[in-house]
Amino acid sequence: MAETRIVVVGAGVSGLTTALLLSRNANYKITVAAKHMPGDYDIEYASPWAGANYLPISVEGTDLAEWESNTWTELERLARLHPEAGIHFQDAALFNRTKHLEGGNASALVAPEVSDPWYQKIVPNFKKVPKNHLPPGYDSGNTFTSVCINTAIYLPWLTSRCLEAGVIFKRAIFNHISEASNAHHSGKKADLVVNCTGLLAGKLGGVEDKNMIPARGQTVLVMNKGDGLMYSTSGTDDGDEEVCYTMGRAAGGGTLLGGCYQKGNWDSQPDPNLAVRIMKRAIGICPSLTNGKGIEHLNIIRHGVGLRPVRIGGTRVEKEKINDVWVVHNYGHGGYGYQSSYGCSQAVVKLVEEVLKVRAKL
Ligand code: FAD
Repeated sequence: MAETRIVVVGAGVSGLTTALLLSRNANYKITVAAKHMPGDYDIEYASPWAGANYLPISVEGTDLAEWESNTWTELERLARLHPEAGIHFQDAALFNRTKHLEGGNASALVAPEVSDPWYQKIVPNFKKVPKNHLPPGYDSGNTFTSVCINTAIYLPWLTSRCLEAGVIFKRAIFNHISEASNAHHSGKKADLVVNCTGLLAGKLGGVEDKNMIPARGQTVLVMNKGDGLMYSTSGTDDGDEEVCYTMGRAAGGGTLLGGCYQKGNWDSQPDPNLAVRIMKRAIGICPSLTNGKGIEHLNIIRHGVGLRPVRIGGTRVEKEKINDVWVVHNYGHGGYGYQSSYGCSQAVVKLVEEVLKVRAKL
């Protein structure tokens, strides 16, 4: 059977996961070409800034729910069998206030059906928190076993698995998506291109998706350890764009405190006032971080800012012919790029097969 040459544009979690799943077909010869690679920290590169945890935000019956559900299977397997991937199990505690859930100003990072979510069928140990165990001021809550991904380990791990499978990596910047078909490491034209360019899909020639907007996320990474739970809340008292979460990263990765969800904000610099509010909210929900003391007892490793690649209308996983080049899109994963990564990439693999069938008939 003739070889198929594929160029994946983008080396964030979407591009790397897609390249990894495609590389399971020995017939596919894959180049990953990107401006940013694992190890880089840049405002145009969302993946390193993520928490990252598994906290589905989809509505049952949607494509996203299917992608998130399929991703749990793989993240759970990696947490169980592959400690070197930097993913570990961690119980999540999600606390809600009725005023957020019914007031239309709930955090964009929790599912609309947060009190009774579809994912209780797939994650282990899903329980409702008894009223007398809720922190003061909260009306309901759930706990379940989730995973937390140390992105500083996981992105290089994905890269290594791709390299092991023969994927070739190279730096490149494309002005138009069709240029990527000339970037295959063989020097020959690629049979198809996979577009995993995240937020920059809004600016890339041939794509220029006007539905792409950033949702700015600011974080504080600290050395302090909490009580072993990952906390999230349905909202905060500091405005609709602010959110509250804590995540203990695997393998000495520290505890990530967040955050905010500021739509349309491209600012790459941490706001010091917001950082103070993030830390105050974090020790409010998880006092064990500082043994009940103030934020001056947090040992800060780094302040961070990342832009979630939000697509109005949802993630685009679709095939399209652009200037005679077949392109399969996989971008616009907002605040759920890790927790939907395997599901989306599996869908891409199917679309690639469809494109190749169409090409074979010509
Ligand atoms: P990116 O990581 O942005 O990668 C895009 C790639 O495309 C880069 O390699 C870039 O260089 C390349 N590229 C773009 N344009 C071009 C071009 N023209 N030429 C060449 N290369 C190009 N998700 C979760 O699932 N769970 C979480 O807990 C979570 N927490 C988050 C917390 C924060 C603070 C933030 C910011 C995000 C969080 N996310 C989380 C969301 C997640 O990080 C993103 O959805 C995900 O990283 C998007 O990955 P991507 O590969 O699509 O895009």
